[in-house]
Amino acid sequence: MTMNSTTDTSAADFMDLLAQPEHTGGAHLFEVFPWNDNFNTGNALIDEQHKRLVDLLNQLAGTLVSNRECEVEAAFTELAAYADYHFSAEEEIWSECFADDPWLHNHLAAHGAFLPKVQDLKRPGSGQALYQQIEGMVKFLIRWLAFHIIVEDKRFALVVAEVQAGVPLDEAKLKAERKMGASSVRLLIDTVLGMYESLSSRTLNLLRERRARVEAEEKLRQAYVDLEAANRRLEESAITDDLTGLFNRRHFDAVFAAELARARREGSALTLVLLDLDHFKRLNDTYGHVAGDAALVTVAGALREHCRRAGDYAFRLGGEEFALLACSSSPSGRGHELFEAIRRDVQALAIPNSRSATAPMLTVSIGALVRVPQPADTVQTLFLEADRLLYEAKQQGRNRIVCG
Ligand code: GH3
Ligand code: MG
Ligand code: MG
Repeated sequence: MTMNSTTDTSAADFMDLLAQPEHTGGAHLFEVFPWNDNFNTGNALIDEQHKRLVDLLNQLAGTLVSNRECEVEAAFTELAAYADYHFSAEEEIWSECFADDPWLHNHLAAHGAFLPKVQDLKRPGSGQALYQQIEGMVKFLIRWLAFHIIVEDKRFALVVAEVQAGVPLDEAKLKAERKMGASSVRLLIDTVLGMYESLSSRTLNLLRERRARVEAEEKLRQAYVDLEAANRRLEESAITDDLTGLFNRRHFDAVFAAELARARREGSALTLVLLDLDHFKRLNDTYGHVAGDAALVTVAGALREHCRRAGDYAFRLGGEEFALLACSSSPSGRGHELFEAIRRDVQALAIPNSRSATAPMLTVSIGALVRVPQPADTVQTLFLEADRLLYEAKQQGRNRIVCG
């Protein structure tokens, strides 16, 4: 194998391969009949026409890949027409030398049988798919052309060369027979091996291309997965509070509106809880902003613990203000036990706030509104109502719950 195992075949290599089909030797990517110099008869005109025939055969084989009937039909028609033209040109050359010789009659008969045989292979209604028909025909054409050129046309060309050099036809025929008999088997093996080598190196190239393509596809798939993950992160970050990881104010507005509409539709209760840390400014002033941030994160964790049910959401609305939305399907909503558990847990965190006028640790005031939405209720009126309850809790001495 000539593949370089130390270099990684990358997507870039694959693009290179696509950009430069010349890497296969400049020939068709789908060449099934590689030209071999043994096919040269020595007659320039005939050799040129044989090359063209082989080209057209490769072109026809190439249409197998597209499997488009019109392309196959066009390639086939061109090959048949050119074969016809070539046979006439060749027969003219041979007949100048062979006149009425039986060799010529046999050769003409071979030419004459060619097109009907090909037409026969392409007959519709054979029950075969188009590509199967063409594949069968391509195999026939490869054999026919290879044998016809190497065995027949080369022998004829030898005779013509002798006759042109002044040797009588019968003697020229004998000389050609002797020469062909001695060398034709070797010639055939040599030619077939040459074609085999050319096709096997092409196969290796195709394998290399396939590997590059598989790797490129894998990279593309991975890039797509990464992109999806990045999009998800972006979507999440748009609704998440950076410091605490709770949902942010923007998401609160969206969820609140949606849940209010749902509660109204279903006639169920909506629980809106507003929470505000007590004397948080003093905590900041006493222990510093970093300690204040850490306290916000810890409190957020405790809130999250109380929002484990489906339909419960915890938000940081901004600063040291939080909110909870609980959307139960029952008309009674979430009860006082939940709010009291939250208040107790925040106090139990025992985050020092020595200069608080309420307690030596950080505490929270809560305004809780539990309500089956009435026609007049809107997100604004409900929020204002909960905020009023929170204000009352502050007024009554903080570290407490006022329910509405
Ligand atoms: P009250 O009990 O009346 O709510 O008093 P309070 O001090 O908690 O309320 P106030 O609104 O007077 O002060 C809130 C403080 O919260 C002011 C500000 O320094 C602090 N704060 C707001 N956002 C942040 C933040 O992201 N990090 C930190 N560390 N402090 C913040
Ligand atoms: Mg506040
Ligand atoms: Mg406060």
